[in-house]
Amino acid sequence: MKIGVLGLQGAVREHIRSVEACGEEAFEIKKVDQLKDLDGLILPGGESTTMRRLIDRYGFLEPIKELANSGKPIFGTCAGLILLAKEIVGYQQPHLGLMDVTVERNSFGRQRESFEAELDIKDVGESFPAVFIRAPHIVKVGPNVEVLAKHEDRIVAAREGNLLGCSFHPELTDDYRFTKYFLNMVKEAKQARV
Ligand code: GLN
Repeated sequence: MKIGVLGLQGAVREHIRSVEACGEEAFEIKKVDQLKDLDGLILPGGESTTMRRLIDRYGFLEPIKELANSGKPIFGTCAGLILLAKEIVGYQQPHLGLMDVTVERNSFGRQRESFEAELDIKDVGESFPAVFIRAPHIVKVGPNVEVLAKHEDRIVAAREGNLLGCSFHPELTDDYRFTKYFLNMVKEAKQARV
């Protein structure tokens, strides 16, 4: 399997390290033509508005949408989840607008800019150490979205078909269960293509 990590800004290396720790190959994606032979793509955490600017500058918007529409899995973490969302509270337009969720940016309050919490994540496992950094949360999900985890009654991980998103940073810990869950989605999608 070939996994790409969008390498324009943010926690790129950490995702590459996590995928490699799971025994798969990961590539930093800096140009659109690198997308073509990927089996799955990770949109890292960072700053969604900065990332969007770079997505536009390097022409990634339509090619990433096409990748998603071809059924290849995409995993958005933190800012990556904001990029995936169809709606962002307080904004007129989404970025990629792929996943049927509404997200609110920086939604855990100033005093709690970053914190760690243990989560039970459906189909992934219990006591997952989740690192939240100026994290968004999902305020609303569409009918085809499966909620995978909540923290203090807020949705912080969800899946819609080939799209996976979470508010936190699984790549910043040595617990690879959530990354493995994504890699399994990629494997299943690849098997379904052949
Ligand atoms: N606050 C950032 C944003 O709105 C996301 C933070 C992160 O990715 N850790 O884009």
